[in-house]
Amino acid sequence: MEDEKKCTAKVYEQGRWGSFHPHRCRYRVWEEYPKDGYCKIHHPITKELREKKSWEKAEARREKDPWVLLAKAQQTIRKLEAELEALRPIPQKR
Ligand SMILES: [Zn+2]
Repeated sequence: MEDEKKCTAKVYEQGRWGSFHPHRCRYRVWEEYPKDGYCKIHHPITKELREKKSWEKAEARREKDPWVLLAKAQQTIRKLEAELEALRPIPQKR
């Protein structure tokens, strides 16, 4: 059976009329993990790796977000203000 050596993942490709037709993946099973029945692209290990990478990318984008930076700056300011308050030689009476 030739089919046994192929990836068991279902692939959804966009058809001519904008509909999605699921079909079996055409790639052969990844030789390093032949028992799992997935090609290198659809194997959970590489999938997880890809997801992790895209997550890291999203995280890196988030780090540059002005609102996030602003929130961080405000946190730093609050922390410094608290430190400053603690450093005041004469306690102020209100
Ligand atoms: Zn596949």
